[in-house]
Amino acid sequence: MSDVKRMLAELQGICNNPKAQLDAALEREQKVVGVLPYFCPEELVYAAGMLPFGLWGAEMQTSLSGRYYPAFTCSLLHTALELGLQGKLDGLSAIMVPMCCDSLKCFGPNWKYGVGSVPVIDVAWAQNRKIPAGEEFTRARFRAVLAKLEEVAGKPVSDEEIAAAVAIYNANRAALRAFSAAAAAHPDEVSPLERCEAIKAGYFMDRAEHTAKLQALTEALNALPKGSGKPLRLITTGILADSPALLGILEEQGIAIVDDQVAQESGFFRTDVPATADPVAGMSQRLAMLEGCSILFDPEKERGRELVRLAQGADADGVLWIMAKFCDPEEFDYVPVKRMLDKAGIPLLAVEYDQQAGSFEQARSAIEAFAEMLRG
Ligand code: SF4
Repeated sequence: MSDVKRMLAELQGICNNPKAQLDAALEREQKVVGVLPYFCPEELVYAAGMLPFGLWGAEMQTSLSGRYYPAFTCSLLHTALELGLQGKLDGLSAIMVPMCCDSLKCFGPNWKYGVGSVPVIDVAWAQNRKIPAGEEFTRARFRAVLAKLEEVAGKPVSDEEIAAAVAIYNANRAALRAFSAAAAAHPDEVSPLERCEAIKAGYFMDRAEHTAKLQALTEALNALPKGSGKPLRLITTGILADSPALLGILEEQGIAIVDDQVAQESGFFRTDVPATADPVAGMSQRLAMLEGCSILFDPEKERGRELVRLAQGADADGVLWIMAKFCDPEEFDYVPVKRMLDKAGIPLLAVEYDQQAGSFEQARSAIEAFAEMLRG
């Protein structure tokens, strides 16, 4: 096995067995805080000496969550709640839940009623996040979250500790950007699934450790000659793009992901926290700077403009929208963003993704036809 494949396999192992990471942290007596998407101030958890642990649902069938959520709620929340109800997240010291879509707003109360044993920390930020009053509101709310995290950690957290955590997170984001570029240049070495797993592993491990592994992997990739094949080059957009079956179809069709606008992927790493005297103010400013996600207030649909820029910058053949089923924010964005891509002459395919779906044959047919059209 080559060095690159060995390093990818190591990250794959972490990504596919988050429970082992949770158990290992508990064994070394480190507290763990579950972090629901999107854009929670994870750096504060890290600064408090606890492990932030991503809760992005799972590909599984649910049996208990239906008592709390109607069937037409997205599978991300159904399966995240199911994991809690089944006791698979026992050992968490708290979970952070952002208030950024209607279904997420119900997650905390559902969790409190159904799971109970793990406290919920609500995370709110200003919808009007770019104006000074919005930034100040977000900063104040993040400070309130910090106070709750200090209670969970059982110790105060200094601004120096927060600034150090921010630096570790920014270094991780830089390493992820470099890896994403290296993976785009070597599609014959890094499949769409391997790219996703290397990125997603960071949600379950110490970010400094993740950075070191990514840097070694990127260095090994950059030492190789650039890929000689001619894959189709796509940009992905959406909330989640981590289905092995779906990403396997892309590989079968000779499709490379050359950049993404996926909340779970570049939503984490594209934008750094700026340096500010108050590190929490910097975290609030980052939230104001973020673009490209349906849950962010975006009246001018900057998401569409960013997608056009990404596709043109990466010389992409098209865009694949992995549409989370029953996700209102994503569905609301579809028409305006599609119009912007149409105007720029960038082909778009949308396929629906549900973590509880057993079969992806409809998506397979659509992707095959899209690939054929792009090659034609
Ligand atoms: S934004 Fe969409 S996918 Fe995310 S939690 Fe809300 S409904 Fe579910």
